[in-house]
Amino acid sequence: MISTSKKYDFVVIGSGVFGAWTAHYLRRTGASVLLLDAYGPASSRASSGGETRVIRMGYGPDELYTRWSMRSLPLWQEFAERTGQQLFHKTGVLWLSNHDDSYTRQLLDVLLRNGIRCEKLPAEEIRRRYPQLSFADVTWGVLEPESGLLMARRAVQAVVEDAIRSGIDYALASAVPPPSSPQANESKLRTLPLSTGDSLSAGIFIFACGPWLPRLFPDLLAGRICPTRQEVFFLGPPPANNDFQPPKMPVWLHHTHAALPYALPDIENRGFKIAFDLHGPHFDPDAGSRVVGEASIALLRAYLKEHVPSLCNAPVVETRVCQYENTSNGDFLIDRHPQFENVWLVGGGSGHGFKHGPAVGEYVTAQVLSKAAPEPRFSLATKQTVRKREVF
Ligand SMILES: Cc1cc2nc3c(=O)[nH]c(=O)nc-3n(C[C@H](O)[C@H](O)[C@H](O)COP(=O)(O)OP(=O)(O)OC[C@H]3O[C@@H](n4cnc5c(N)ncnc54)[C@H](O)[C@@H]3O)c2cc1C
Repeated sequence: MISTSKKYDFVVIGSGVFGAWTAHYLRRTGASVLLLDAYGPASSRASSGGETRVIRMGYGPDELYTRWSMRSLPLWQEFAERTGQQLFHKTGVLWLSNHDDSYTRQLLDVLLRNGIRCEKLPAEEIRRRYPQLSFADVTWGVLEPESGLLMARRAVQAVVEDAIRSGIDYALASAVPPPSSPQANESKLRTLPLSTGDSLSAGIFIFACGPWLPRLFPDLLAGRICPTRQEVFFLGPPPANNDFQPPKMPVWLHHTHAALPYALPDIENRGFKIAFDLHGPHFDPDAGSRVVGEASIALLRAYLKEHVPSLCNAPVVETRVCQYENTSNGDFLIDRHPQFENVWLVGGGSGHGFKHGPAVGEYVTAQVLSKAAPEPRFSLATKQTVRKREVF
């Protein structure tokens, strides 16, 4: 039940990974916080709703996100330990590269400069360690042994449950788009309308609505955040076979392949997970079809035939369709609304945001309390309508 008569210090709209961690950190300041979500935390429609997400330190030359991953991994681990759940699997993350690939060369420099444990592996060593994989085009790689994967949906739900235990209020409720600008002589959003006709009062409203942000703020964000359809496949390994489980297989990213394939080991017996990091067509997060077509499976099998031959004819045991919420270049959007001084926009995870949830929550809390300088790359002003991906 929501108390519509209570005035909260903060209302956070959206309990995906960004909203959940934001509510967590706001509550730690002693503030009153209401977290709400139209479909529940990490639902099947949310970008955070997948089974697993990769947490890697490497971002090519982009040191900003390497530092944010470095900040977030121990926070995920501490949270998992405190709540007694296995939310992180240290599977290792392997980058597959060749001599033309400056991204991985620069990634290695950034890892070394930041004291991150890593191993540079020649192709023969990759073949020796992982005989179930076959990469004729790969001449070397980088292994991050301390990185791995997060149990995404379960982790977000655990963060929300923990925040509720620490005193936040949570409600299943849907916010309707607020007006695009304040009334005359006002600079704030006084109340947030809900789909039920009720409205909520708060000092500050934080919209962490992932791919729904352009729906809530069409004047501001249409074309600046573009949800794209992304398909994910799980393949069933042969019986009595652990070649695709850790420690035999790490997370790997075939960065030099044009379709940007990446794979996660079989965790909790769901199967070998594989997806392609290219942006798909525009997607409607409420009503878009989440059924994968046969054509996609044919493309997948062609890739497997060459690179994971023993799974080439393996059964597809599960598929998922999720959406990225891309900004023009892949940088997050974390900024104050230009017209409402008490409204914040938090999103633009752009296919790589999950791992950064704890750092995003900390950052948003420091921003709304005016306790840290803003990162210019996260500003609304830098978000263009022409898509030119720069963060991988
Ligand atoms: C297939 C796929 C693979 C990915 N792989 C990785 C990876 O390996 N590593 C990684 O770090 N990241 C990865 N990502 C990206 C990452 O998952 C997202 O960037 C991140 O989950 C975004 O979280 P969010 O909280 O911004 O959005 P969401 O999780 O979508 O949360 C937004 C929430 O807002 C709620 N909401 C929306 N509108 C309203 C409203 N009007 N009223 C109330 N509630 C509302 C929704 O119900 C939803 O729960 C991947 C994404 C996809 C789709």
